[in-house]
Amino acid sequence: MKITTQAVQIGLQWDTRTGAVTVPVYQTATFRHPGLGQSTGYDYTRTGNPTRQALEEGIARLDGGARGFAYSSGMAAIANLLLLFGKGEHLIVTEDLYGGTYRLFEKVFRQYDLDFTYVDTSDISAVERAVRPETRGIFVESLTNPLLKVADVRGLAALCKERGILCIVDNTFLTPYLQRPLDLGADITIYSATKYLAGHNDTVAGLVVVKDPELAEKVYFLQNSVGAVLGPQDSWLVIRGMKTLGVRLDRQQQNARKIAGWLSGHPRVKRVYYPGLKGHPGRDTLCGQAGGFGAMVAFEVADHSLVERLLLKTRLISFAESLGGVETLITFPEVQTHADILPEIRARLGINNVLLRLSVGIEDADDLIADLAQAFKGEE
Ligand SMILES: *Cc1c(COP(=O)(O)O)cnc(C)c1O
Repeated sequence: MKITTQAVQIGLQWDTRTGAVTVPVYQTATFRHPGLGQSTGYDYTRTGNPTRQALEEGIARLDGGARGFAYSSGMAAIANLLLLFGKGEHLIVTEDLYGGTYRLFEKVFRQYDLDFTYVDTSDISAVERAVRPETRGIFVESLTNPLLKVADVRGLAALCKERGILCIVDNTFLTPYLQRPLDLGADITIYSATKYLAGHNDTVAGLVVVKDPELAEKVYFLQNSVGAVLGPQDSWLVIRGMKTLGVRLDRQQQNARKIAGWLSGHPRVKRVYYPGLKGHPGRDTLCGQAGGFGAMVAFEVADHSLVERLLLKTRLISFAESLGGVETLITFPEVQTHADILPEIRARLGINNVLLRLSVGIEDADDLIADLAQAFKGEE
């Protein structure tokens, strides 16, 4: 069954008593025991809740893993996974990482004696050179933020297997609709479901899928022990969003391609980063491993004065952080999403004071282009 169909099936036929087509929101903290030493299968919502379970089983199916886990945010999901590692252990991480993940690794987990090396994970030999005897995992963004570098997940997963290292993929930008990292050999996927999966800029959530059942048991132990679970209402919202994942992404990608093409021809744009454009270095890798190029577009404007103009004069497009929703958003990564990354690293990566990032939504592409065009002109 195709992903689009599977996504619509999430939560269906859950409530056989009433036949409710959508899974109910089981807004309860606890569950009555039918007898001494007996359980309905649910005891306490941190440990398990039917609405959250429908979501967890749904994402596990979409990704082809043994088990899924829903957390209160993408960061909570990543923090929980990091607890799989112990004192003195080392991870190799994508260098142009989501700023919040970088902050979590450097400012929180480093205190507990975990070590991280940041490399260009689109270059497998760079990853290989960074492997040390104490390396236990790689954490890779399959399509990076904001420069849209492409990782060869199949190649990285093979390297990990050979060295006995866990391969964790943050697949937020592609989602299972466009890429299934577990099929490519990865061990764990993680999602900020806040983005494309929920898809409406209305919920913060994180999801994890684990391929191996034994490892999934460990992750479940950590999820229940730490307790940063997603509430029933938010679980329901993520399920509702996921049902339209395929149609939203089809439209968002179409729009992104059109806008990237338009920006490429604009005289006040220096450079466009979109993997669907010819000449993008990761284009071929992505073609071999993914079903599309996603809907994020980054671009450099000719001079810094245009940054403020575009952020403030766009009318349909909102100047806001986050991404993946139906509404088109524009951000300035240097001072927003990537402010926690050291300035010299930002400069080396190309996150500079003329770089803007668009998360393209489902509006009409011509309207979005007209909005950008009037903002470039800067008329009152
Ligand atoms: C947003 C994001 C996160 C963090 O997720 P939250 O839901 O905001 O906690 C992690 N990774 C990537 C790639 C993201 O875009």
